[in-house]
Parts: sequence; structure tokens; C-alpha cells
Amino acid sequence: MLSVAEAQEIVLGHVRPLAPVRRAVTPDLIGSVLAEEVSSDLDMPPYDKAMMDGIAVRSADLPDGTGVLTIVDEITAGRVPIRALGPGEAARIMTGAPIPPGADAVVMVERLEPLDAGRVRVTDRPPRPGQNIIPRGRELRQGDVILPVGSVLGPVEFGLLATVGRTTVNVVPAPEVAVLATGDELVDADRSPGPGQIRNGNGPMLQAQVRSAGGLPRGLGIARDDPDELRPKIAYGLESPVLLLSGGVSAGKLDLVPQVLRDLGVTAHFHKVAMKPGKPLLFGTHPGGAVFGLPGNPVSSLVCCELFVRPAIRRLRGEHDPRPRLIFAVLGEDFAYATDRPTYHPARLVLQDRGWVVWPVPWFGSADLRALAQANALAVFPAGDHRHRAGQPVEVLPLPWAH
Ligand code: AMP
Ligand code: MG
Repeated sequence: MLSVAEAQEIVLGHVRPLAPVRRAVTPDLIGSVLAEEVSSDLDMPPYDKAMMDGIAVRSADLPDGTGVLTIVDEITAGRVPIRALGPGEAARIMTGAPIPPGADAVVMVERLEPLDAGRVRVTDRPPRPGQNIIPRGRELRQGDVILPVGSVLGPVEFGLLATVGRTTVNVVPAPEVAVLATGDELVDADRSPGPGQIRNGNGPMLQAQVRSAGGLPRGLGIARDDPDELRPKIAYGLESPVLLLSGGVSAGKLDLVPQVLRDLGVTAHFHKVAMKPGKPLLFGTHPGGAVFGLPGNPVSSLVCCELFVRPAIRRLRGEHDPRPRLIFAVLGEDFAYATDRPTYHPARLVLQDRGWVVWPVPWFGSADLRALAQANALAVFPAGDHRHRAGQPVEVLPLPWAH
């Protein structure tokens, strides 16, 4: 049976970034990947700039750091200095304002004592030329590449884009991800389940997971375990670049999804992964996109979505390394655990003085979604009958939305 890592490579090997689109730069683009290089249209700072409130001086006027100067100008941020400083002259200047011609240093306001007739006494160390001044172009120069292709847009990138005057950019768009729950027993959340029925928890859960991964969820509701109902609903879902199906992929009598997918021209690349929960995961492709058949048990669906669908969405969005980011944590307590497949166990990850510590939370298996409400991570335990010891390192997958 395929390992999780092998299955992830197969998924990523079949998924390519979507074609770039031109978009207005708005906060909605957070997490988008740049499909073009962005360079600066100007020098930053655009002029020699004061880093302190104080006075701009000619350092030659203060060879030993002390002296009396005459204030001839006041330069606030946004103003342009109108005159050059002559010998014995200084200009009041505010942080961020341009240095006047003739000045080569700024003396901070704390070193000044006001005198009469617009004069000040300076008592400081001898000013170094350039002191408290950021020279023009120190941060960036016109033509510098400031964001390479593949940059993920976050707050810093939005600030930089605005700084260099970009109001539109080429980005990889968010993929639409259709979500269809299958099962005769399912009813919508606004209904009271009758005998033998349960509510469709997976639909809303998977849509939220898609959203948190940067995809655009499209809910397709519920399909009965009936080929004549599954076929048109799945065909409709295949119009999206990604289709998630929940349920109907195991080996039961009414697990009809694999056959319907075949009938609709989907090639299955795998249909079993060595993991718990989630073994009967199906992954397939067709000319228009990718399909995941997620096992119906809620925790199985959630874990498979995290391990396989999130990386696929991130790859479609153009991310360079969309693989799940596992970290190491130490086990918070002894944990005896027997399992026949590598197991992604709901757990609580806590940052303590000496680093990350993880505690498995009580869990009754793949149907027990409630256990996940106390978890913020999945701890990975190997197959076998092991007595894991407190303090031992464990691989952990943080759940990105949980705290
Ligand atoms: P299946 O994968 O279709 O064999 O379903 C496995 C288990 O998951 C069954 O107990 C189903 O009732 C349950 N299940 C399937 N689909 C859903 C769903 N959308 N929401 C909640 N539970 C589900
Ligand atoms: Mg079913």
C-alpha cells in the first residue's frame, strides 16, 4: 500500500498552477502567489531623509559638538526645504522630512536648548557627517526587483506594492473546489434526521477547510447512493478544477463512487493509502482537473483533506512547496498505542519554555469529530504496538486554523 508521502507526490505530480490573471490589489489577494516580478519605480527614500526630530546642521559648524546656531527654516514631513543652510545656520526638521541642501547631519531635539532670537544651543558629541540621515535610495533603488515570481502576498507585500505604485498585479487565481457529500443516510443540517439518518457534517466542514487552504468552495449538497443521481451531480462537480466527494469510496455494497468516476472518464491514480484514519482515499484526474474521493467518516475526511487536498490547492495557487509542514514536538506524557498503520491522532500542541510539547487527546476513532474540537494538531504515531515515553520526539501536523 502507498505511504502518505508517496501518495502526496502522486497528487502533486498531477496538479499544475492555474493560469495567471490580472487583479486589483485588494486585501482579498492575501495568500495569492505573484505570477510576475515586481520592481521599484523609484528610489526609497526618495530624498536624504531625517531619522529623528531635531535640527539639520552643517557638521563643520560644530567641531566639538557644542555651539549656538540660528534656525532659518522649519521642515516637516511632506515639505520641501526652500533654502540651503549657510555657516552658523540650522533648520528645524521632523522625522521623515527631507534634509536641506548644505546640511549633512541631524542633531536630536534632546540635545538642544532654545535661546532668544530664533537661536539654539547645541550640547552634543561632535556630529558625524550623515548622522541621523538615511541617504536617498538606501532601502531600494529604481529598477530593483523587490518581489520575485512566486512571492506569497502578505501584509509586507501589500505595503511594498503600494510603495512602488502597483495597484494591479498578475497572480495565480484561487481554484474553485466543488464539494459533494454522498450517502443515502444524509440529510441537510436544517432537517431532523429520521430513523437511520444523520446530518451532513462533512459538506460544511470540507468547504471550510477548502476556504482555509485558499480555495473557493462550491457546495453541491448531497447525492444519494444511486448511480443515476451520482452521475449528473459528479459530472457537474467535474467542471471545477477540483472536486471533493465524501463517502461512497470504501468496499461496501453502495460504495458506487469509484465506478461512476470511471464511467465519467476519471483515471484513478490510487485508491488506498497506508494511514489511519482515511485508508480508502481515492485520487483521480481527468482532462479538466482532479478528484478526491474522501472516506465518509468525518475525521477521515478531515485528515485526508489536510494531507492531500490542501497541498493540491496550494500547488494550484502557485506555491513552490505546498507539502504539509510537520514539526517535531516532545510527547507530554507516556502514551501506549497500538495501530496497524501510521496514525494521525488528534492532539494538543502547546509551546512551553523548552519548545513544543504535544498531548494526544481522547479519541474514539474516525467517526469522532468531537475529539477534534479539543485538538489543534495531529500527532503521527507509527504502526506497531508501542509504549511511547514522555519527552520522546513525535512528528506533528499543526491544524492551521486551530489555536
Ligand atoms: P462511507 O465512506 O460512505 O462508507 O461512510 C462512512 C461513515 O461516514 C458512515 O458511518 C457514514 O454515515 C458517515 N458519513 C458519510 N458521509 C457523511 C457526511 N457527509 N457527514 C457525516 N458523516 C458521514
Ligand atoms: Mg456511504
